[in-house]
Amino acid sequence: MGSFGYGGGRRFSTVGLLISNRLMQLSKNFNLVELTKSQTAERKGIANDPSPDHQENLRLLCERVLQPIRDHFNHILTVSSGYRSPQLCVAIGSSIDSQHAKGMAADFEIYGTPNNEVFNWVKENLMYDQMILEFWNEDEPNSGWIHVSYNPDSAENIKENLQAYKDEDNITKYKPIIGDA
Ligand SMILES: [Zn+2]
Repeated sequence: MGSFGYGGGRRFSTVGLLISNRLMQLSKNFNLVELTKSQTAERKGIANDPSPDHQENLRLLCERVLQPIRDHFNHILTVSSGYRSPQLCVAIGSSIDSQHAKGMAADFEIYGTPNNEVFNWVKENLMYDQMILEFWNEDEPNSGWIHVSYNPDSAENIKENLQAYKDEDNITKYKPIIGDA
């Protein structure tokens, strides 16, 4: 009876905005939640909300790279890490200069499809900046995952292909992949 003031109304609309924003569809099969979800962020109460510019970068990454992969293999593509806020980068020991911190990169896999097979298809068929086959070994085709980035400045997309591995001292090293993985 007139006691519902602007305060309540505003609070309601803010929540509505937040929800619709996080569920924002970035491409046919990917929404913002999937590209921002982080167990570490949730566990530690760290905000992981990309700016509008970084959201746009995520949208391009989905539209140009992740969605075409999803469509080709016609199977669920699981993103294990997409956007990382500066605080989240610090919490997980990732560089704040990483392309993850700009919404340009995602780590993913398609369960049941060997990561090198996905890697080789992307290399032959898509434009991207950098792709890393991470900790994959041929004795275990489903091991590891793929890191891929897309730069909104299309001239920057140089298709650098790397493999990440641990050397005998358990230090992470990178080597170029020439030809198929
Ligand atoms: Zn990554």
